[in-house]
Amino acid sequence: MNYISTRGTAPMLGFGEAMMTGLARDGGLYVPEIVPALTTDEIAALAGLPYEEVAFRVMQPYLGGFFSDTEFKGLIAKAYAGFHHTARAPMVQLASNHFLLELFHGPTLAFKDFAMQLIGQMMQAALAKTGERITIVGATSGDTGSAAIEAFRGLANVDVFILFPQGRVSDVQRRQMTTPSESNVHALAMDGDFDDCQARVKDMFNDFAFRDGVRLAGVNSINWARVLAQVVYYFYAGVALGAPYRQVSFTVPTGNFGDIFAGYIAQCMGLPIEKLVIATNQNDILDRALKTGEYRTNGVQASISPSMDIQVSSNFERALFDAYGGEGEPIVGLMERMKQSGGFRIADDALEMLRATFSSGRCSEEETLATIARHRQTTGEVLCPHSAVGVKVAEEHIGDAPMITLATAHPAKFPDAVEKATGLRPGLPPHMAGLFDKPERVTRVPNDLAALQALVRERTAR
Ligand SMILES: *Cc1c(COP(=O)(O)O)cnc(C)c1O
Repeated sequence: MNYISTRGTAPMLGFGEAMMTGLARDGGLYVPEIVPALTTDEIAALAGLPYEEVAFRVMQPYLGGFFSDTEFKGLIAKAYAGFHHTARAPMVQLASNHFLLELFHGPTLAFKDFAMQLIGQMMQAALAKTGERITIVGATSGDTGSAAIEAFRGLANVDVFILFPQGRVSDVQRRQMTTPSESNVHALAMDGDFDDCQARVKDMFNDFAFRDGVRLAGVNSINWARVLAQVVYYFYAGVALGAPYRQVSFTVPTGNFGDIFAGYIAQCMGLPIEKLVIATNQNDILDRALKTGEYRTNGVQASISPSMDIQVSSNFERALFDAYGGEGEPIVGLMERMKQSGGFRIADDALEMLRATFSSGRCSEEETLATIARHRQTTGEVLCPHSAVGVKVAEEHIGDAPMITLATAHPAKFPDAVEKATGLRPGLPPHMAGLFDKPERVTRVPNDLAALQALVRERTAR
């Protein structure tokens, strides 16, 4: 199994290298050269299996033998052992044809744990083989950072630096990043928004001397292994509702396009998906792009669903790569225009392909609050603001196939928004009690590449 870059000129890599590398050296993202398909029988056989077994069967074809089957099963078992629900990804019913897939039972209460806990295990196993040390640098709108720190805290061969936008993450998110006491954890509060944080991380990867000097590794959803881990729950939920003998639909609260891209991969592998719906908050670049053909940023507005406050969706490049026929050259051109003028027009045939694959909708702040309140009353389900964005948009797209909306975070991670909507303040689950009593450790940093690089060098020098 080979991985190629969406910009066409970086070297082809195997699974292990693609995972440890993160961003390709030509600035692109790694994608599998060929997406392996599962047969109808193979998909049908997933029904009723434990999550871990589904995970093994869905992901194994992508490894190219990097881990043995026994080793990989062991890593999967360890990754999900810390989840607080035996089903890992339980589903509840909201309406006759609408289901909610709860992806927030991991250690940091957001779906990011599904990929991060596994990638933590996989990277650790890979490093143990080579004795290497790496420096992980990631950008976060709140949940990736907490999940990454949880997965890598205290590991001997890893330093983890997380850039988050100062003042733009929830108190729970911030404290999950700033209260771990392990010395290999570095929480950095940066001046700017998430797009600034993500841009500085990409700058660090594109400075090869720095990148090689500190042995930089990435865990943002530019890392293929993260996307892959998220493909699993599409199959897990789909077969529970009758796939492959019946179509299913998904609505995904979307920011960086990683989660929904995993759904697209599940579809490419053979899961019969009728509709794949992108749900955005007021930062609606993806919804506008699909409707108008113009992909253009107009600045991030802080919202009550902060993990989706993104206007440069990295993984959209992977979808564009497929829409442009798997050629790197047009992608290089688009990204160049993006850099110079903040946007580009999607070619007609590419747009047609994207529209055939994805539907979309946006949800305003008021609609988000109203959806949380309405569901508290009518179904009893307490939604986090991101999940509420998904539910609202899903309700506008329900057709013949059962609709599965991804609930991406636990309501207790965003208590202010939930309280504003319902008057009730959701409490943290027992395993997180004490979060607000622990001392915080955080470094304020400027939106400045040289200063960030100096800090990373200093803290990793030994
Ligand atoms: C990260 C995140 C999202 C957006 O997921 P993407 O993969 O970036 O599109 C949505 N909701 C929550 C709670 C998140 O943490």
